[in-house]
Amino acid sequence: MSRVLLLNPPGTKNYIRDYFCSKLSKSHYISPPVTMLALSGILAEQHELIVLDAMVEALSRKQCLARIRAVMPEAIITLVGAASWDEDRAFLEEVKNATTAYITAIGDVLLEDTEIRLEEACGIDAALLNFATPDILALIPRPDGRIIPNVVYRGLDGRGYVNGGITKLQGEFHIPRPRHELFPLRRYRFPFMVSHPMTAVLTDYGCPFACAFCVMPTLGFGLRPLCEVIEELIFLKNLGIKEIFFLDQTFGVQGKRTLELCRAMQQSQLRFKWSCFSRVDVLKHDMLEVMAASGCHTIIFGVESGSEATLARYGKRVKLERIQRTLAACRKAGIRTGATFILGLPGENEVQARTTLALALKLPLDFAAFNVAVPRARTGLRAQEIAAGLIAREESIMDQSGRQGAVSTRELPAGKISALRQEAIRRFYFRPAYLLRRLLCLRSWWDFKTQVWDGIGVLADAWGREK
Ligand code: SF4
Repeated sequence: MSRVLLLNPPGTKNYIRDYFCSKLSKSHYISPPVTMLALSGILAEQHELIVLDAMVEALSRKQCLARIRAVMPEAIITLVGAASWDEDRAFLEEVKNATTAYITAIGDVLLEDTEIRLEEACGIDAALLNFATPDILALIPRPDGRIIPNVVYRGLDGRGYVNGGITKLQGEFHIPRPRHELFPLRRYRFPFMVSHPMTAVLTDYGCPFACAFCVMPTLGFGLRPLCEVIEELIFLKNLGIKEIFFLDQTFGVQGKRTLELCRAMQQSQLRFKWSCFSRVDVLKHDMLEVMAASGCHTIIFGVESGSEATLARYGKRVKLERIQRTLAACRKAGIRTGATFILGLPGENEVQARTTLALALKLPLDFAAFNVAVPRARTGLRAQEIAAGLIAREESIMDQSGRQGAVSTRELPAGKISALRQEAIRRFYFRPAYLLRRLLCLRSWWDFKTQVWDGIGVLADAWGREK
């Protein structure tokens, strides 16, 4: 048994690094990193585990380093992100110099050109490319020279790399019960939560769809047995958790299984408030009723664009009429809805971007997130942008929140995309009728506090100059 530290490193900005995505938080929230939660279940079965989330604890580098020194772990598994890469590697170099720990990192920035990224980061010994398999266990306390799937690590003779490649997950997979109790659960917040404390739960991994701007299809798609999920929910109920964020990338892909989960939650008195991400063509109307009855209060849909042609070009074959029908059905079932939109996709001019904004204003949405197109590692969009000469292969800044700028396309310069994004936020959130509806729909004191806190973040995002 080794002493292992699971780490979310500190940052000068409010970074979210999780599930092979990294960005700046659009307001002040940080939700529990499901990457760390899943790894906590896998690691705690065999090792002494310590969790340190320096982001949510708002620790400085110095404070975080002192906490790591006090623990003196033999191995550290740390989150990293493309949005925070320069800070992450500088901090991990400090950790490397201050400890004897073997340091493994996981994050979007390491998914592509992993060996080149490790060359840039002398504080990182190994990269982990999947958090839903037990492959990490072969790295602890340190690897023995064998090839490990989903792991790239520095050769033991100090030269070259041992590269196990990345495997796409398929079929059923298992995660021993994540050790939520080791995380500072009272500190986590999420913009849609209506009660507290909250945590995140995973029922599947990856995504079976194939949107070209998204990294999830490259991970494969696997399902966790429902009995494992229920066991975790029962534990969370006893731990006093009130709110769950199901962090599946597309919740409800298998309708029968989803109904089974919702009914089991109702029958076992697992009465959480909960929210999820999904697609408008996945959730059938009868499912929405059952989801609402089991505590679902908010669903966030990836709507992405107001142009069916753009959606089709990027592999998201969804009709606008279907979007409207599903949102209306959610409202009928008493479920709030949010949508994510992408501005600045290559091929879209200003007129088409404004079509997306017009759709956002027309739909009966409670929340909207306006992101910018970024060439995330391993995506079709990235390959396309490199081939078109829009970005260099070594370009690794991939903050889809848009708070650190955008990527110019042939049709729109980066500055224009950022300006359109800020205009979209202002026009969506500062409509008097919208503000009144949000006020009338408040569901709890927690909801009120969250919305006020979130509103301050939206104000800063809509008028701020973060780059
Ligand atoms: S955008 Fe959503 S539906 Fe499309 S591949 Fe990604 S997670 Fe799946």
